[in-house]
Amino acid sequence: MTISALTIAGSDSGGGAGIQADLKTFAAHRVHGLSALAALTAQHTRGVTAVHVPELAFLRAQVEACFDDFDVRVVKLGMLATADVIRTVADLLGAHPDVPVVLDPVMVATSGAKLLADDALDAMRTRLLPRATIATPNLPEAELLLGMRIDSVDAMRGAAQALRASGANAVLLKGGHLLGGNDVVDIFVDDTGLHTITHPRLALEAHGTGCTLASAIAARIALGDTVREACIAASDYVHRALVIGYRPGRSEIVVLDHF
Ligand code: PLP
Repeated sequence: MTISALTIAGSDSGGGAGIQADLKTFAAHRVHGLSALAALTAQHTRGVTAVHVPELAFLRAQVEACFDDFDVRVVKLGMLATADVIRTVADLLGAHPDVPVVLDPVMVATSGAKLLADDALDAMRTRLLPRATIATPNLPEAELLLGMRIDSVDAMRGAAQALRASGANAVLLKGGHLLGGNDVVDIFVDDTGLHTITHPRLALEAHGTGCTLASAIAARIALGDTVREACIAASDYVHRALVIGYRPGRSEIVVLDHF
């Protein structure tokens, strides 16, 4: 049976982030991509103009259809929009306790658009973090989840450990929002301890990096990598996809190319 990966996430009509980025990333890894749309956004490279959340019964039907027929080796979670969606997804995952889960706790887009309701933070903390094989927050997301400021690489190490202590099996804390320095530093933590992943900072504004990173991690896990191997390979993948990225809209925003 062909190896499949399921993304439960939001659609980006602009094709740079969300489900669209996930499916391109899965295809580039030669993994069959399945998708369940938890939210739809009307969006271009300059921002989000509307959001629609489908009925929970329809989300359930999509996820159940995928599990009924395919060899789902991993689930990637992206934009889930509301506390009700989070609870529904957590319930659905409860029926598949052995399937690894890559949790990208999407909250706010780089453009500033809010992609998660304020009252959904608690559900994210209590229902999804403890189910995550790996969680991939950026710094603003980790700050909201932990209720603390993270303003240095040292603080990132503490935050990554705190997030793991709150239930995630492993954490990749993305440091792209930390200003200063020529490098972007990400902190990975699992039961073997803390590891630093560093890449040169690129002088560009990009869209869809978080979705692509999480789905590349998911694809690598589906193919048999350990979580740590998957994170290192996926970080390299995103860096290279950014280097060859392009500007499809009227703004300067770069969308990742997939190879
Ligand atoms: N739109 C959707 C549907 C997303 O899931 C995300 C991020 O996860 C974004 C937009 C924002 O992407 P970015 O912050 O890279 O612009």
